[in-house]
Amino acid sequence: MRIAIVLLAFALAPDEEVRRLQRDAILIDTHNDAPMRTRAGFDIGKTAAFGDTDLVRLRAGGLGAQFFSAYVPASMVAANQSAHRALEMIDTIRHDIVARHPNRFVLALTAADIVEAHRAGKIAALIGIEGGHAIEDSLRLLRDYYALGVRYMTLTHSNTNGWADSSGDIRKAGVKHHGGLTEFGRSVVREMNRLGMLVDVSHVADDTFWDVMETSSAPVIASHSSCRALTPELRNMTDDMIRAMAKKGGVIHINFACSFLTRQPAVNEARKALQKKTAARLRSKSSEEHEVTLMVKTELERGKGVPVPATIGDVLAHIDHVVKIAGVDAVGLGSDFDGIDCAPAGLEDVSKYPNLIRALLETATRCAYCGPRRRSPENRVRSYFENSLARTVANRAATLRSSRAAIEA
Ligand SMILES: [Zn+2]
Repeated sequence: MRIAIVLLAFALAPDEEVRRLQRDAILIDTHNDAPMRTRAGFDIGKTAAFGDTDLVRLRAGGLGAQFFSAYVPASMVAANQSAHRALEMIDTIRHDIVARHPNRFVLALTAADIVEAHRAGKIAALIGIEGGHAIEDSLRLLRDYYALGVRYMTLTHSNTNGWADSSGDIRKAGVKHHGGLTEFGRSVVREMNRLGMLVDVSHVADDTFWDVMETSSAPVIASHSSCRALTPELRNMTDDMIRAMAKKGGVIHINFACSFLTRQPAVNEARKALQKKTAARLRSKSSEEHEVTLMVKTELERGKGVPVPATIGDVLAHIDHVVKIAGVDAVGLGSDFDGIDCAPAGLEDVSKYPNLIRALLETATRCAYCGPRRRSPENRVRSYFENSLARTVANRAATLRSSRAAIEA
């Protein structure tokens, strides 16, 4: 049997093996910021001149399911526009991405919808809110967002809100912190559990994370974070956090941002200077700072001799680290494409996923610590693709249980 598998592997061109895996398993990415662009008028069906995501490249990348981020900038709080922006972002995912391209995308609300979309040859589009300030301290808004299709929410973005501390300002003097979650924050987590909306701990402060662990009855995800043991960034998760999350069935989805994957300050400094210079030149082309950042990223990728501080090997190292400390079922992929200013060489945009998958297949073959009863390379990579799908199912089951308990109480 094993010989047959080896022969089969040789008989297939490398790309074909990757494609077969992408047909058999569903590649799920839990964080993509393309909706920031579609809200501003970009048609995802047209080939983008800059940025990381469009329909052609999503298909080239073999994405089975994509969580699109309904990102609400922290600046919306002072402008009293948080809910307004959240609703606009949800609309652009539903209207500009899914409804405009009904033959390519389907809005997925359940794990079964994801499986069905894959079977139909379409990309499952899911909605995740980024920034808990979107609910404006109201469980009613949280329930409205769920009704509109939101299936995860990062409790904070880079700003501490009225009920949860953020890693983004935890060291900033003058910001009123709560020491984690407030009592209302805990009720947000419980309501998310009851609804079946995944609690996302990417961006939260460490104290918030531990309060979530104590409060949540369902598995928790980090939709786009990497490992702090490898890159000491507060946005990344410590080994204790990853283990605690895994123990409760949770998954960390590795973020592809160079600064979260590698600590090469010298190269990063050089790149930063180049980014600044290029941005100054391109700023006249768009009034949206986010678009300028993406234009700079694309231009630097196309230029010659630009140092890229991270490689696909760095992504593998982060995945491998999670597998080593918490197991194969604890890791997934959350690229953060269209939200990052630098991606690893060879993994520049959504179309490059096959390069990562090829590398994953090769390293999965050489897993030294996986034991004699380790899974086949294909099955390990399938886990990385689908762990979040399994958690969506588990989350639903937990929800049904807690709903029943609520009814019986
Ligand atoms: Zn983010």
